[in-house]
Amino acid sequence: MLRDSFGRVATDLRVSLTDKCNLRCTYCMPPEGLDWLPTAQLLTADEIVRLVRVGVERLGITEVRYTGGEPLLRRELVDIVTRTTALEPRPQVLLTTNGIGLARVAEPLARAGLDRVNVSLDTLDPATFKRLAHRDRHADVIEGLAAADAAGLRPVKVNAVLMRGVNDHEAVPLLRFCLDQGYELRFIEQMPLDAQHGWTREGMITADEILERLSSAFDLAPDDLEQRGSAPAERFLVDGGPARVGVIGSVTRPFCGACDRVRLTADGQVRNCLFATEESDLKSAMRAGASDDDLAARWTAAVSRKRAGHGIDDPSFLQPSRPMSAIGG
Ligand code: SAM
Repeated sequence: MLRDSFGRVATDLRVSLTDKCNLRCTYCMPPEGLDWLPTAQLLTADEIVRLVRVGVERLGITEVRYTGGEPLLRRELVDIVTRTTALEPRPQVLLTTNGIGLARVAEPLARAGLDRVNVSLDTLDPATFKRLAHRDRHADVIEGLAAADAAGLRPVKVNAVLMRGVNDHEAVPLLRFCLDQGYELRFIEQMPLDAQHGWTREGMITADEILERLSSAFDLAPDDLEQRGSAPAERFLVDGGPARVGVIGSVTRPFCGACDRVRLTADGQVRNCLFATEESDLKSAMRAGASDDDLAARWTAAVSRKRAGHGIDDPSFLQPSRPMSAIGG
C-alpha cells in the first residue's frame, strides 16, 4: 500500500497524459502557451500502462484518472483506457477534459470501459469563454458534454473555476444549466498554479462566496447522506435534491488530512500533491531497466515522504515551479 507517515493511504492515481493543451485558460497558462515537454521525455503508452499496472496490482490503487494538459490530445487515449480497464482488480477509470473533441471519442471511450468524465466549463457565454480560454471553442465543449451524456458516461460532472470580474456572476446560471442537463456541477477555488504567477488571494472567489451566490437562488442543504470521506468536494442537495452541487475549497477549506491522491506527471515523476516541491523519477528508473518490484519500492518510498498539507496559508509557501498543466490537474 502507498501509506504516508501520517497514516493516509493513496488509492487515487491521477495521471497526466500530456502537458499540452488546446486552450489557454488564464488561471492555468499564458496566452502564448508554454515550452512543452519534448516527446522523448513523455512516457509512452506502454510505459504509462506499465506504471498504472504496478500501482493497481501491487500498490492498492483503485481509481485512475487520466488528465493533463488536455488528455484528448493524446492519440492513444482509447487504447490506454482499454488497457487500464482490463487490469485486475479492475480500477475505476475516469477522465478530466476540456471537452474539445469529446463529441468524437465519447462513444469509443465508453466502449473502452471509461466509467465517468469531468468536463471543464467556466461560462455559458461564448465571448467570455474566448476571453478566459483565448480560443473560440465554447460550442465544442457544449457538444462534448452532450456526447458524453449520450454515451452513458453518467453522471457527467462539470468543473468550473470562477474568476473575479470575469465569470463570477455566472455561479447561478451555470448551476441552472447543469441542473437542466442532468450534469453535476462542482466549483473549484482558483489555486496558485498558473505558470504566469498571476494568482492573488483577493482575486480568488472563495467557497464562502460561491455558496452565498448560489444561496440567493437555490436552497442548499449539506448532503449528510453522502460521507465526504476523502472526496475534495463538499456536496449540497439543491432545492431538496436529488440534484447536488459540489464546492471544492482547495485553498480556504483544505482537505489535506483526508487526501488519498498521488500523481504521475506526463514525464513519469511521482508527485504527492499539486503543490509538492519534490518529485520522484520513475521514468528514468524504468528506462534504466528497473523491475516492477523496484518501481513499486521507489513509489512506496516517495509516498512515505508526503507532507501533512499543501501549506498555502503558511508564510513560507512557495508556488511549485511546474504549472498545473505540467503536473496534471
Ligand atoms: N485540460 C483538462 C481540463 O480542462 O479539464 C484537464 C486538466 S485541467 C488542469 C484540470 C482542471 O483543473 C480543470 O477543471 C481546470 O479548470 C482546473 N484548473 C486549472 N488551473 C487551475 C487553478 N489555477 N485553480 C483551480 N483549478 C484549476
